[in-house]
Parts: sequence; C-alpha cells; structure tokens
Amino acid sequence: MDLSLFFAGTAGSVPTARRGLPALLLRRGGDRLLFDCGEGTQRQLLRTVGLPDMQAVFLTHHHADHWLGLPGMLKSFELRDREAPLTVYGPPGTSDLMRAMRTVYGRLRYPFTVVDLEAGDAVARDGYEIAPFNVRHRGHAFGYAIVEDERAGRFDAELATRLGVPFGPDFGRLQRGEVVNGVSPAQVIGPARAGRKIVISGDTAPCEMVRVAAHQADLLVHEATFTAEERDRALQTGHSTAHQAAELARDAEVRMLALTHVSTRYAGTEIRDEARAVFERAEVPRDFDLIEVPYPEKGEPELQRYDAEGARA
Ligand SMILES: [Zn+2]
Ligand SMILES: [Zn+2]
Repeated sequence: MDLSLFFAGTAGSVPTARRGLPALLLRRGGDRLLFDCGEGTQRQLLRTVGLPDMQAVFLTHHHADHWLGLPGMLKSFELRDREAPLTVYGPPGTSDLMRAMRTVYGRLRYPFTVVDLEAGDAVARDGYEIAPFNVRHRGHAFGYAIVEDERAGRFDAELATRLGVPFGPDFGRLQRGEVVNGVSPAQVIGPARAGRKIVISGDTAPCEMVRVAAHQADLLVHEATFTAEERDRALQTGHSTAHQAAELARDAEVRMLALTHVSTRYAGTEIRDEARAVFERAEVPRDFDLIEVPYPEKGEPELQRYDAEGARA
C-alpha cells in the first residue's frame, strides 16, 4: 500500500514567491486527504498533481493562513459538478466558521458535511485512522496522527518449507490461519507488526502531546517557523524553532522529520542546518516536494524534490 505526503504549501502566515500557504495532501491507495487549505491551495494543486476530489479536509486550527483557500475550493468543486461527498473536520468552532463562509461558497449540490472534533475523536478510514490531539498554539489547535492498523506478522517461507509445507496454495492457508501438515501459523508467522504512522504538528510551540503522539513515527511533519535566534518570538506567538522541533523529533525517535511553516525571513537552508545539528534525518521540503513513506522493511522515508519540468529530480 503506497503512502505519501505531498507538500502543496510550506510557508507560514504569509506566502512568498516560492512558498504557498499551508496545505498537505496525504495519498494512500485511492484516498486523498488534505490537511489545511491555505489561500491559493487549489492552484498549487492544479499546477502540479491536479485538484483531486479529496474525501476529506482536516483543519488544524482557525488562523486564516490555514483555511482561506477552502471556500474557493468548495466552489470549484461545485462548478465542475462534483458528486462525491466531502467532509471538513476541525477543532470546535469549525462548523460555525464554515456556516459564516456559506455566503462566499453558496449552495453545494454534492454531499457536504462539517464535523467539529474533540481531541481523541479518531476518524476511521479503511485500514487506518486520523486522530486529532491538542497542541500549544493561540486558540484551540490540533495536530493529527495518521495511524495505520496493525499488519500481519512476517511469514517465514523458508522455515515453513523446512517443516514440510510445500510452496504454493498451502502457504496461503497458513497465512489465513489454518494448520497445514501439522504446522500451525504461529510457528511460521511472527508477531503482528505496527502499521505506519505520520504525525502532523500543525502550528505549535514545543509540546509534550506532539512528542507522545509522534513516538516512533515514520514521519513527523513539524512546524519550524523560526530559528533559535528568534526563540523569544516563537514563544510569544506559539510557534517552534527548528532546534526545538529537532529536539522533539530526536526524543520521539521518529524515522524522519520534515519542517514546514517557514517564516518569510528564511530561505530554508538555515532551518535545515539548525535542525540537522540535533537530528540528522531532518528535511525542509519546498513546495511540491513529496515524501514517500515505505514500510520499514522496504526502506527509509525519502524526500523527492519537485522539478519544474514535471519530472521529479
Ligand atoms: Zn499558521
Ligand atoms: Zn496559527
């Protein structure tokens, strides 16, 4: 099962020529879920991967840089005769916010639902769930943990053969839980393995909840609005420095850290260098970069740079 995260916008607060406002597109099988929808998100998607009929949009919080793109996108779906249902999830107050926006996006003929979540209200999807947790920002703000269901344990084909189970349909019977030629599944199938986990911090000051949620995550997407020089400013505004995000990634033992929500004052390399001094597997994706998250036995998560010619570098 493929699992990847596309960075549609990596700026914080205000866009720059190079960075759009926050939006992340999660892709897993046929699922397309958008996390935040800053102004300009639909165009960021249209220029690159296309605007998918995503099944859901998850808002981290209600600061304008994280949702202003939503009314326009809802309207576009209406104009192109979307029929598939769409649900918008967010912290308490999301339904009030969307109701106030109704004068902007008007009547929608496709099924449209808005759900206010509380921390811990996991949204179940086929094979995984999306769980919101509280972070430390100004106002009620969520991070989200995307957690796959457990997978079956590893099947030891060599051992099964040695114990007298011939290669072929009998392997399948063992994997479905049947005893074959006196060999039980437990003899040749290891313990269930954890699914993959991606954690998105949203806007937050360094926060214990993020560290707990991100424990041994395959990928942590954490905000790094500032560098350590602006530590006081980060504290005042409820944001994190690259150094703080990297310390948290190290303590949470994540496989990869992707830093985003970068302030206009930085090009990105200073954020990356500061983080890597603490945590080597840190990246600062640019707009349209992609991170593939394979199962641990298949390799490490990799940042794929976008190149404007259309092919990935
Ligand atoms: Zn923000
Ligand atoms: Zn914010």
